[in-house]
Amino acid sequence: MITKEVYFRARKEAAACIKAAGIVLSDQEIEKMDVADFGLGNLAVEGAQIVSLIDTDKIAMRVIALFPGQTEPEHWHTGFDGYEGKQETLRIISGRLYLYLPGVDTVSRGRIPKGREQYYTSRNEHVLEPADTITMPPLQKHWFQAGPEGCVFYTVSTLAVDARDPFTNPDIVRKTKVADNDYVANNTSYV
Ligand code: ZN
Repeated sequence: MITKEVYFRARKEAAACIKAAGIVLSDQEIEKMDVADFGLGNLAVEGAQIVSLIDTDKIAMRVIALFPGQTEPEHWHTGFDGYEGKQETLRIISGRLYLYLPGVDTVSRGRIPKGREQYYTSRNEHVLEPADTITMPPLQKHWFQAGPEGCVFYTVSTLAVDARDPFTNPDIVRKTKVADNDYVANNTSYV
């Protein structure tokens, strides 16, 4: 859970980062931004600001703003009913993104959040810069962290059915809850 103050501040700062990266959003898209703390209550460490641009029964497109060092926890995308699961492509717009995939442990630029080591099993580091693009197949575990300047990037994917996607940390609750009222972000999508 995050406070209303944290939610609105993060939304405003993320909108400014996205604008500075040269991406145009509508006011409605900004209002529906998902400030995701993953139910862990420590947004600056494990969190993401996510704007859904396109959601159809075939494709999804989002823009994500991560603040410096902010981490989206390890997860993967499962299939169901004949659907093989989401194939996801990241395209970096500004800043640097440290992406972690299964493989040899090469973690050096990024930092695994303290006390959460068991929930970050993918340790093969990929440093992505503006105009870099990488595609992850369904079921492949991944997590990512912004570099010291933060990061703005697109994710383009096949059908996204977010509620079905597991995270390694079983404590994660995907739906964002904001204290002080019953507000729940309209857009509870993630990547
Ligand atoms: Zn993902």
